[in-house]
Amino acid sequence: MFTKLSKNVLYVFAIIILVALVFSFYSKSLPEQKDISLNKFMQMTKENSFDKITIRENILMAEVDDVKYEAKNGLNVSFYELLEYYEIDSEDILNIDVEYAESVDWMSILSIGGMILLPLLVLFFLFNTIGKSLKGNSKAFTFADSKIRKYLPNKNKITFKDVAGLQEEKEELIEIVSFLKSPEKFTNLGAKIPKGVLLMGRPGTGKTLLARAVAGEAGVPFFHISGSEFVEMFVGVGASRVRSAFAEAKRSAPAILFIDEIDAIGRSRGTGLGGGQDEREQTLNQILVEMDGFDKNTNLIIIAATNRPDVLDSALLRPGRFDRRIVLHTPDIKEREAILKIHARKVKTVKDIDYVKIAGRTPGFSGADLESVINEGALLAAKNNKKLVSETDFLESIEKVLLGPEKRSKVFSEKEKNIKAYHEAGHAIVASALKDTDPVRKISILSRGMAGGYTLQVPVEDKHFKSKTEFLNELIVLFGGYAAETIILGEPSTGSSNDLEKASEMAREFITVYGMSDLGPISFHEEENVFLGKNISSRKTYSEEFSYSVDKLIVQMTTEALEKAKDVLQNNRELLEKIANKLLEQEVIEQEEFDLILKENPVK
Ligand code: ADP
Ligand code: MG
Ligand code: ZN
Repeated sequence: MFTKLSKNVLYVFAIIILVALVFSFYSKSLPEQKDISLNKFMQMTKENSFDKITIRENILMAEVDDVKYEAKNGLNVSFYELLEYYEIDSEDILNIDVEYAESVDWMSILSIGGMILLPLLVLFFLFNTIGKSLKGNSKAFTFADSKIRKYLPNKNKITFKDVAGLQEEKEELIEIVSFLKSPEKFTNLGAKIPKGVLLMGRPGTGKTLLARAVAGEAGVPFFHISGSEFVEMFVGVGASRVRSAFAEAKRSAPAILFIDEIDAIGRSRGTGLGGGQDEREQTLNQILVEMDGFDKNTNLIIIAATNRPDVLDSALLRPGRFDRRIVLHTPDIKEREAILKIHARKVKTVKDIDYVKIAGRTPGFSGADLESVINEGALLAAKNNKKLVSETDFLESIEKVLLGPEKRSKVFSEKEKNIKAYHEAGHAIVASALKDTDPVRKISILSRGMAGGYTLQVPVEDKHFKSKTEFLNELIVLFGGYAAETIILGEPSTGSSNDLEKASEMAREFITVYGMSDLGPISFHEEENVFLGKNISSRKTYSEEFSYSVDKLIVQMTTEALEKAKDVLQNNRELLEKIANKLLEQEVIEQEEFDLILKENPVK
């Protein structure tokens, strides 16, 4: 897209330069023009300097030696009165030809017309080349007006083959492909073809990819607009963009119009929060109007994507609109392996790479995360001047994707390092001491992303549920750092703030979402993002008393968890010292080494 546009800009420059050249050439061949005073002009007339004088209304013109003299007759009298006034005897200037010209100056009209026409010509040319690039090229192109990007079906199109896993999702979409390919098959039977499909899933799970694959499979053009692009400063812009996007897509039907991040506009209306409300409402209304407006014979399918289906306006979900809904799940280990392999094809790797192992270490990763693992691995290999990317490069890049890049440059004092070492050792030991916790893969006191240090625990297999015990044990592990600092250093540091935040949140969920506490098997599931609007105006679902008990219970739960973590570490002080010292020495302990230490010094 960028190269295409800059090419057009080049064209414009070329034209401007060309025009400038022509102009300067032309103007050189024109006589030089000199505006002089009436006095001077009459003086020259008197001296018989001119052969010919042209008079247009009150302008006097004469040409001598390729210089055109012009003077304005401000006296508003006839030329002969002027001669009198300047005491010129008309007998003396008999050989000067005096001519009265028409009052319209075609030359100047031409030049003014040229000035107006020229930019228009340039614009015309610009749009022409853009139009051509649009027809002849499959690359994305942004219309200035609708911000719609169009992808034509072409050779290197994306199909279902490029989407790993997501089997059920694909199966649901195959139907859409056949609607686009042969609608008669359905309409002949009187079946209504669905208009809208809503893809829901976390960011990076492949919503955009899948939508494009549907277009690729059906061989139809794919129009892409994004909800966030509609949210503009000016009211009405969004709605007009929607209109032109739909018009554009309808013209090319059969086609797919993809509205990405539809939650940016399709949020529940009427909460009075968030600003830009009018604009969003108008845009949303326009989408609804457009979706209801085109008849079922227009073979246009709208696919929308969102990662916040909970905030969508219910009007969007009504029958005849986005009534097909497909949830894209986070890939399991088999699918992760397949996704890794698809993206690894693009980089040069050594032969024997165990993708199952990499997949095993990346539970919870989305397709986009896995793609970055491959890319980061390749970058790492290149940085180390390797010819081929190896398995260790990929394994190492997992943490980078998970936590952000390692920050070796950030300087910590010895004292801070000491705190970090005991803190992380505390987490690791508590995690190994308790049953039903995920194994420790790595302990590090190097900062990464936002974390000052980290203890990486990765489940052995994909988990979808947690038992009550697992939940509580996780809570205790969270306090491992805080407990270690208190025991060894006498007091906690601010480094535990993130752990505490997570722990409090977990305790609250334990009570109000999963109903696992003594307050009863009850759920008051609230939306986390109150600022998005929906929740604030909804009615309060529990009493002051209950709310008070919840708060009290949270404090009780976290305090108990801290005590348990302290108990574990009191019983394993030697081990705590040992691991902390090892961390201070080498900064990082990998799983193998950690397991070895535990074998020699079993946790109590
Ligand atoms: P979303 O739109 O859901 O945020 P995208 O479709 O933009 O996610 O996915 C981002 C990238 O992640 C894709 O370009 C693709 O390279 C990769 N990806 C995601 N899911 C898959 C998958 N199932 N198979 C292959 N690649 C995937
Ligand atoms: Mg996307
Ligand atoms: Zn911690």
